[in-house]
Amino acid sequence: MLKIDQIWKNILLEAEAKTTTLAYDLYINSLSPVGIYRDRLILLAETRAIKNIVDNNYKDVLKKCTNLVFPSIVDVEIITEDELEHVGNVEKEVDIPVSPNYVNDTEDKVSFVSAYTFENFVVGKSNEYAHAVARAVADNPGTKYNPVFIWGGVGLGKTHLMHAIGNSLQRNFPDKRIMYVTCDQFVNEFIESIHDSNPNAAKNFRAKYRKLDVLMMDDVQFLANKEGTQEEMFHTFNELYLADKQIILSSDRPPKEIKIEERLKTRFATGVIADIQPPDLETRIAILQKKCSNKGYALNIRILTLIAEKITNNIREMEGMLNRIISYSTLVGGDPNDMNIVQDALRDYADAGRDMITIDQIVKAACEYFGVKREDLIGKKKNKEIVVPRQICIYLICDILGQSMPLASIGEYFGGRDHTTVMHARDKISEEIKVNDVTASQVKDIRDKIYNR
Ligand code: ADP
Ligand code: MG
Repeated sequence: MLKIDQIWKNILLEAEAKTTTLAYDLYINSLSPVGIYRDRLILLAETRAIKNIVDNNYKDVLKKCTNLVFPSIVDVEIITEDELEHVGNVEKEVDIPVSPNYVNDTEDKVSFVSAYTFENFVVGKSNEYAHAVARAVADNPGTKYNPVFIWGGVGLGKTHLMHAIGNSLQRNFPDKRIMYVTCDQFVNEFIESIHDSNPNAAKNFRAKYRKLDVLMMDDVQFLANKEGTQEEMFHTFNELYLADKQIILSSDRPPKEIKIEERLKTRFATGVIADIQPPDLETRIAILQKKCSNKGYALNIRILTLIAEKITNNIREMEGMLNRIISYSTLVGGDPNDMNIVQDALRDYADAGRDMITIDQIVKAACEYFGVKREDLIGKKKNKEIVVPRQICIYLICDILGQSMPLASIGEYFGGRDHTTVMHARDKISEEIKVNDVTASQVKDIRDKIYNR
């Protein structure tokens, strides 16, 4: 028997990969599951407006995601509070078939995003080596390239490649024990295992990672300043490596630039190191064409070229812009290939700003405004002239980038500070602007600067 929450969680996993962050956070993730009625999943929207938006824009993708994991659920219905009493007797627990995409939370079963496959990965000069290495380990894990270390800037396809390896391994080597974790997940699990009152927790944690055939860890730069976890990782690494088990790591920088103990750095760098660079214009256009054909968008090359010319070094942002044009044209009922519609959509997009602004831009604006050096702002100095600008800057980063920037990453950016420090700075300024006009106007000025207003 499957509980409705477990069913919904699985659908959300798929939906997160298939929709924009904005659509996912604003609409899809705000729905709550009511139950199953015959072959239909009933979802509750908080307001009528949300229901309408989902009905008009995201229902098909929701249906697709649902059907992908639960083949017997063929329809999705969005209702509002006042319609609750009219739905029939819904089941909150059902016995239905699941596809291989199904993830059971209670087991340590790996889940790979089904859209992140090699077939969906466009190869160009900038990523061909990383792609070839990924293919090779997917075909032949553990023997030739070990460990594999993939590094490159944000949004350039590292996570996609890792999931592609995972999807392929799962299909071709169903008996292998494969695990994909983000570094943050590993760190948290490790810390929890130490503080757990169960005396076996630490042992279980260790065993779980050391019995694997393939370990993939994403974003290992977040091991910086986590000495305990580094030590654990060192031993896990050794055990797997010596047993010829495949290790695959990713990071936003090469091993030698990660702030971790020397011996771990050396281990990370002993195998193959493959970097991914920003793709050239043709590859960017090819990626957009691939996304369009996967999502069923009919956009012509002129529009795709426009997007590819605007955004040069982050594919996720490029996708964001593509999705923006589609959802805007759907909302206003216009043709997404009409240049006027596109311009309107993008003007809106730039105003909304969220996906376009980078942490570097915010830091730069804050430094210029306060007349402080970047290395001081993100550094260790504790004098008041630096601390307040730093806190304001952190507040703005949290506010502008929202969920796309985890607190731990902000902490890492600011010289390896803890996420609680980031939280403290954010909350402090958010209170301060309510009572202190000077701080409020400083925040406003810097924000205007960032948005060129
Ligand atoms: P990273 O982990 O490097 O930050 P991701 O793997 O999350 O980046 O990629 C961001 C987005 O860009 C994903 O939606 C991914 O599918 C897409 N993407 C990146 N590289 C490619 C590529 N070569 N072909 C197709 N899509 C890509
Ligand atoms: Mg990633």
